[in-house]
Amino acid sequence: MQDTFFINDNGDGKKYLLRTHTTPGQIRVLEMHKPPVRFVLPGKCFRNEDVTARSLEMFHQIDGIYVDKNVNFVELKSTINYFAREFFGDELKIRWRPSYFPFTEPSAEVDVECYLCKGKGCKVCKYSGWLEILGCGMVHPNILKNMGIDTEEYSGFAFGMGLERTLMVKYGIPDIRIFYENDIRFLNQFK
Ligand SMILES: [Zn+2]
Repeated sequence: MQDTFFINDNGDGKKYLLRTHTTPGQIRVLEMHKPPVRFVLPGKCFRNEDVTARSLEMFHQIDGIYVDKNVNFVELKSTINYFAREFFGDELKIRWRPSYFPFTEPSAEVDVECYLCKGKGCKVCKYSGWLEILGCGMVHPNILKNMGIDTEEYSGFAFGMGLERTLMVKYGIPDIRIFYENDIRFLNQFK
């Protein structure tokens, strides 16, 4: 689903691929821990993207996974909505859209009302009035089965969120490139 950079030779004869999202970390967590599990996985991601006000070739993601008995979509929705209200405040509206990811079923994407135009439509939100903040869904049963987890008993939800984009919405930052220009006037405000 994403265009990637490859590193074929790292001097040790192995082939490496820079990850395009932090979701592969979910498998590592499930390999090491039996449910119930609750984890957040922050990390750098790399994609062969055009550099624009909204996207860079390198950015940070935070993945979350929760597997336990009777985990359902209602819990996922209320958890994300609670996060969004606490993080962005009550003023900005939140929208859920059905989506597709290979590792969740069903899947959804969550948008927040554009902080610049307040939903009217502007350049930053591509005149849609909304900004995507995360993808999420119920962990695909095949992933749990491959980890030896009984899907009759256990289920889980997972989400992945772009850190820079989330901060852009919260602080009204108009251009993602500002994060990595090392401008002391920009950085000082987060002391
Ligand atoms: Zn806008």
